[in-house]
Formats: sequence, structure tokens, C-alpha cells
Amino acid sequence: MKHQLTSSHLTIFESELFRTTSTCVITDDYLLIVDPNWLPSEVAYIRQFTELHGKDRSKYLLLTHSDYDHIIGYGAFPGFMTIASQRFIDNPEADKQLQQTIAWDDEYYVQRDYPLCYPVINYPINGEGQDMKIGNDDYVFYQAPGHNYDGLLTFNRSRGILIIGDYLSNIEFPYVYHSFADYRTTLNTLEAIIHSGEVKVLITGHGNHTTDRVEMERRVADSRAYLDGVELAVRSGTDFDFERLVARYDFPGVMGAFHGKNVLLAGVEFGGN
Ligand SMILES: [Zn+2]
Repeated sequence: MKHQLTSSHLTIFESELFRTTSTCVITDDYLLIVDPNWLPSEVAYIRQFTELHGKDRSKYLLLTHSDYDHIIGYGAFPGFMTIASQRFIDNPEADKQLQQTIAWDDEYYVQRDYPLCYPVINYPINGEGQDMKIGNDDYVFYQAPGHNYDGLLTFNRSRGILIIGDYLSNIEFPYVYHSFADYRTTLNTLEAIIHSGEVKVLITGHGNHTTDRVEMERRVADSRAYLDGVELAVRSGTDFDFERLVARYDFPGVMGAFHGKNVLLAGVEFGGN
């Protein structure tokens, strides 16, 4: 499986599907895996990696949000202590996400050696800026709704590792399944964390991580520009220049559908013409 990044305490795996990332943090006393995903061989690879490097360490599994592509590997990691937002537990669409994992495997004749199930969470994260000690590392969590209902930002303050799920991707414009207003609030939270100067590496759910602060800020600005552009088009009843937008992305074919859904949601949220 592709390692997008390998360093002494941090490994970022990258799936061949949708360039989805799985992050693994390993220190002397714990191992944390985030969103292990997609294909059975890839999940098995990550599981072997955690078996090899997780000996004599506490093992944690963190879910950035409940979109089905991010929870599909959960069942392969029994015994790991799980972390996600309280909203992840309360999510009214939990069963829908689980059904999507089952439907996806069914559609592509995919067989797994572990059960598909909706993750049971041992450490629910409530509120804003909640601290947690994992091993000797200091973590702080922020709620991140907008892309979906139950997103969570995870910042390992001790090592400057910021894990954000499906925000600030370099290969996707914002996919807004939940709320434009919440999405903007989450961008503000991300900007504040980045401005703290403590972030050494920012890890997005799909695409490239970045260690460059200018790049981090550019991604925030790009996301805002997109949301503003969609809102303006919806409010004024004018056309959004979609061709110009997708020209900069590697996978424009699939993106029209996501943009169309964003416009529909914006229509509901902003009451366009
Ligand atoms: Zn995703």
C-alpha cells in the first residue's frame, strides 16, 4: 500500500480509491490509527502494520466522521479504543452510512474477512477544544460539522499533527452534505488552529497532506471562495463558472454531481431564486 508519508512517529497511508488517507501515529506508549480504509487488501495491510508496530502499546482508533468510506475498515480493528465525536454516536444517519458500506461491497463483489458494522465509540468527544491525553501526547479536539453532521478535528499538539477528515483537500472543492453555515464555522476553526503556528503537518481525508503553512492558508481561502461563489450564484440566480473551477482538479468527471448537490443545498439554505 502506498505510504504518502513516513516519518519517525507518523505514517500516512493512501488508498488507491479516491486517494483516501489513513493516518497512523506511533510513539513509545501508544498507537493511533485514523479512518483505516478502503479495499480489503489495504485494510489488511494497515492491520498488519498496527500488529507489527503496536506491540506493548495502547491502541486507539479514531474516526474523523461517519461517511461510509471512513468507517468501512472499523471491523478489522477489534479491541482498539475508539474515539469520535458525540455526534458520531448520535448521528440519525448512522444506519444509512452502514448500509452504504454494505451496498458498496455488494456492487463491486468485495469480500472482507471482518464484519461491516457501525463503530461503537469508547471516547466520545463533546464540546469545543476538548483536551485528551493519549500516552504522553496532548490532543485537542474541535467539532467540525459542515461537510457532514459529525466531523471532528484532531490536533496532536505535542507533535503538530492536525488530522481533519474531509476538509482542505487539494483534490476536491468543498463537498457540503450538511450545512454551508457550519462548513464556514469549521473553516474558521481550522484557520485559527493554523494561525496558532503550531501545525507542522495538515492531513486531509483525500489527497495530499501539507507541511507548508502558505499552502494550508491557501486551501482555507480556496474553500471559502468556493462557498462564497456558490452562495452568490444561488442568491443572485446567476451561473457559477463550474468549468473554470474544475479545470484545476485532477478528476473533473465526477465533480459535476457533487457541485450540483452543493447548489441544491445552498438553494435550501439561502433560499435562492
Ligand atoms: Zn471521505
